[in-house]
Amino acid sequence: MTDQLTFQNPVTRFPDISPPIQDQPEPGLDQELAPQADRGETSYRGTGRLEGRKALITGADSGIGAAVAIAFAREGADVALSYLPAEEEDAQEIKTLVEEAGRKAFLFPGDLSSREVCVDLVAKTVEALGGLDALVNNAGRQIAVEDIADLPDEQIVDTYETNIIAMFRICQAAIPHMPPGSTIVNTTSIQAYQPSTHLLDYASTKAAINNFTKGLGQQLAPKGIRVNGVAPGPVWTPLQVSDGQPKEALPEFGKQTPLGRAGQPTEMAPAFVFLTSAESSYVIGETVNANGGMPSP
Ligand code: NAD
Ligand code: MG
Repeated sequence: MTDQLTFQNPVTRFPDISPPIQDQPEPGLDQELAPQADRGETSYRGTGRLEGRKALITGADSGIGAAVAIAFAREGADVALSYLPAEEEDAQEIKTLVEEAGRKAFLFPGDLSSREVCVDLVAKTVEALGGLDALVNNAGRQIAVEDIADLPDEQIVDTYETNIIAMFRICQAAIPHMPPGSTIVNTTSIQAYQPSTHLLDYASTKAAINNFTKGLGQQLAPKGIRVNGVAPGPVWTPLQVSDGQPKEALPEFGKQTPLGRAGQPTEMAPAFVFLTSAESSYVIGETVNANGGMPSP
């Protein structure tokens, strides 16, 4: 019924949710999200587009990263999953789903706000997968603060380290291992172009990610490595209930889009698959906007 390959009305493909006001400590867990998000567990159908690929996905335990891990496995890739130690339960569930698709999954918990962890993650991935040819830089944190006067210095630094500096570090460590034909896909956001007043630190990291994607894309193209991005709009994930949004905004989450509803994580996965598969060979430095129809440059 919600299979991504069949003819469907995008307005009604997924329910128009009105999430109850809820709170989880950061990082939130998919297992405790109400209503549950759709990561494509029962719907994503692979067609062999990533057969034999070796992928590292950060933030792969939940939300968009989990949907990407499920899709990549069903498209034929083995995957290394990066996440925070507190997310072990969510990560175990995604590992099981990857294995049910007949692919290998390796779990590498760690906090990517440190250079050492980023470098170590790539080394462990290369060893476990026997190489690396698909990198998805998707981990990110988002904490809403209404007034810049109240934005803690520690939050500004940690948001930058996690969202953008870790991408530099992981790319630096990964690129020497990546053969021609490899791909990097970075998760950016509609916030890169339309910053919310309560997300100044987060939104500015997303603008930086778009710019980094365009620059690195040009630098690596001659080596046969393609770099692109995906910019989601409002997608129902644990990020939103662990202080990513003001609590009172949750029931209205995503209703401002032309489709009138929040996106589900599985609706992001095909863009990542497209940008990772060889069929997008002439697409470089691009950001695919998947946001329910909000205008974006
Ligand atoms: P999510 O909470 O499910 O995923 C974010 C993941 O980032 C977490 O699961 C966690 O594993 C990882 N992470 C956070 N801090 C980390 C750290 N210090 N070290 C290692 N890993 C860390 O939420 P999501 O919405 O699926 O987020 C995935 C990406 O999508 C993020 O980059 C987010 O900015 C982006 N995004 C989300 C939305 C949305 O509406 N949900 C919109 C635009 C962009
Ligand atoms: Mg998570």
